[in-house]
Amino acid sequence: MLGTSTTMNPIRQIAFGYSTKCNIRCGHCVASDDSIPHGKMTLERAMAIIEQMARCNVTGISFTAGEPLIFFEDMTRLVKLCHEKDIYSRVVTNCFWAKTSEQADDTVSALTRSGLSQLRLSFSRWHQEHIRRENVVNAANSCQKHGLDYFISFVTDFSRQDDSLEQFLRDNNLKFFPEPVIYLGRAQEFDPPRIFTDYHPNTCNMNPYLSPELDMFACCDGGDQFKETEFFLLGNLRDYGIDELFKRKENNVLFHLIRTMGLTNIASYLGLKANEIVQYRKCELCEKLFNSTENLNTLEKAATSDLLNWKR
Ligand code: SF4
Ligand code: SF4
Repeated sequence: MLGTSTTMNPIRQIAFGYSTKCNIRCGHCVASDDSIPHGKMTLERAMAIIEQMARCNVTGISFTAGEPLIFFEDMTRLVKLCHEKDIYSRVVTNCFWAKTSEQADDTVSALTRSGLSQLRLSFSRWHQEHIRRENVVNAANSCQKHGLDYFISFVTDFSRQDDSLEQFLRDNNLKFFPEPVIYLGRAQEFDPPRIFTDYHPNTCNMNPYLSPELDMFACCDGGDQFKETEFFLLGNLRDYGIDELFKRKENNVLFHLIRTMGLTNIASYLGLKANEIVQYRKCELCEKLFNSTENLNTLEKAATSDLLNWKR
């Protein structure tokens, strides 16, 4: 592991995978991939980890991975603990529980009473093959009614097929943010249309992810997907403390460069032509650079010398 004192007062936030189990099967899913066994940690273990995270200055926890609210009682306990420890909490959900406005109210009011900070509602043409789109409206309206912060994560491949879904969100005056499909997990089987992006830096915040098996990864999207190099794997909580695993992320020069210098300049340093780089989506470029032993060896050798100085 490369070491440098790149971050003095890091912000510590994490995607918390209490379970990868889900009640639906979206065609684009990264988190609940069939190649990954669907695990769940015990409630006692999760509570102990959150206690440790509070002692290690973690300020935000996003409950994600599968569908957290299929374990509703557990989730309210975990959210309540976050609230007691002054940790910002978010739950990411597919809204299966919001079939009627009354049912949505029951769930949202219980989460609000537990101290939840924010609900993130997933919406896409893949989710909506299984969940009625009206569920998302019911959930969003209940959040507004109970004063719970929310937003809709509108996952899209930016094709015309998604126009009517986007219009539906606009017609219902809902707060939404488009997000690109990540072509990892099940979406690896898609045939992504080629794109030409602007020559933007492709920096990435890199929130870490804790799996139900207690593996901690430096990235919550590509985390356990870069199988050839295991580039993002920080270690397992059975072997190392939370603080140690966060420090591994914070002190890794390549992770630091992804956050600050961006993938585009790293790719250019590695020899990719500019007209090739603009054909990559961000996570695809990341995989090209770091899921190859050869590229990773080159970049690790250069990380503390040439690469750190590869700036204008
Ligand atoms: S709701 Fe989320 S976790 Fe479940 S299958 Fe869909 S994308 Fe995956
Ligand atoms: S660009 Fe890399 S670090 Fe960022 S989300 Fe994608 S896979 Fe993770």
